Amino acid sequence: MARARTLVIGLDCVPPELIFERYRDAMPNVTRLASSGSFGPLRSTTPPITVPAWPSMVTGRDPGELGLYGFRARQAGRRALSLVTSAELREKRVWDRLGEAGQRVAALFVPLTSPPKPVRGVEVSGFLWPGEGHAWAWPRSVEHELEARFGAYRADVARFGEQSEAELLTELRRMAEQHFAIAEYVLDTRDPDFLMMVEIGTDRLHHALWRHMDPAHPAHDPSCEWALACRDYYAYLDARIGDLVARAGPGTRTLLVSDHGARPMLGGVRINEWLLREGWLRLRGVPEPGTALSNADVDWSETRAWAAGGYYARVFLNREGCGPDACVPEADAARTLDQLRAALSAMPGPAGETDFVQVDAPEQLYAKLRGCAPDLMLTFGGLAYRALGELGGDVFSEHDARGPDGANHARDGFFVLSGAGVPARGRVDDAQILDITPTLLGLANVPAPSALRGRDLSR
Ligand SMILES: [Zn+2]
Repeated sequence: MARARTLVIGLDCVPPELIFERYRDAMPNVTRLASSGSFGPLRSTTPPITVPAWPSMVTGRDPGELGLYGFRARQAGRRALSLVTSAELREKRVWDRLGEAGQRVAALFVPLTSPPKPVRGVEVSGFLWPGEGHAWAWPRSVEHELEARFGAYRADVARFGEQSEAELLTELRRMAEQHFAIAEYVLDTRDPDFLMMVEIGTDRLHHALWRHMDPAHPAHDPSCEWALACRDYYAYLDARIGDLVARAGPGTRTLLVSDHGARPMLGGVRINEWLLREGWLRLRGVPEPGTALSNADVDWSETRAWAAGGYYARVFLNREGCGPDACVPEADAARTLDQLRAALSAMPGPAGETDFVQVDAPEQLYAKLRGCAPDLMLTFGGLAYRALGELGGDVFSEHDARGPDGANHARDGFFVLSGAGVPARGRVDDAQILDITPTLLGLANVPAPSALRGRDLSR
């Protein structure tokens, strides 16, 4: 009897229209898997960011339940944000549950697995690995074993944003080559019941070269050589996906999945500059253009709200308990927040557009609120604009503060589910990221905890 193995291959930042339509002809293996199973868009978390999206996908918990609202988090009583690590992810990942049920597991390059944790098999950290001198595999002996065969570990593209197009594409290819080779090796030597790998290279490619990939991008030129090179990279990934699926054997169930999509980025919104001009934030002196909030001389005793930038904006009320010189007494917090919400909702876009800002309250999005949740969460122009935390200059910017970047994230990633015993259901349009953990548990006949709200897509 063929082995009932589960193989998960994640591609970061891939929207459904790219893989199912634009690059369809370059991806015969993905197309074949989709036509023999089910496929469609996968609605990401709010916010649609790598962290919390992958952690939500592999735990079945929403960002509020996880207390993860982005790559960075606030600690109680402090205003500064710092990078999160796997230590902040306290929920069991799906491979932890499968391991408890007696399965042999391998989790390779999944975001937010640095430092690696003990598992019933192998875990190799993802791209947030801090670098040389830090653990990147569990057990540690695997580091030497893999390095001896596949060279120095490539967690991410080195010096991202500084290379030419050609250098970036070469490096992306080398990274994917190493990652798929490691996955094949782990499959052969560990014979896991469950293997999941995530390739971050697609996200890196999109952020650097999206203008060459998306006809909707204002700077798109279809005759440009890089348009073809991006497609070639995808064709390479498709070939490696085909190899890995074949190697996993005939009884394998395969899930291809992405954490969120990509779309053209039109510019940025300096949200703290807006708060400053509208009187919510107070400074001593006038900042130079591009000043980070942490470097500005903020008069906290007169500041009612501030924001952190990124793909979306997190807005915090300067309320009691959030740091020295808190300005908003708890008795006034609800009323102040209502005023701020109304002011932000009315903020026009760069060309005077109405309905430019979507304002969400985390307690309405999530089942629970752990950690330091923002008071309000903002997206601009349907994610066409990024949030910039810097002060100085105009409220609207055509470019990201960190240099030209053609892509922002979009709300839908994709999924393809195929293989032994998986019904050929064709296109499914309502799959959600929280469905993935119940699906993977269902495929292994391991009961999902009743607190998980997602549904099993294989049933
Ligand atoms: Zn991502």
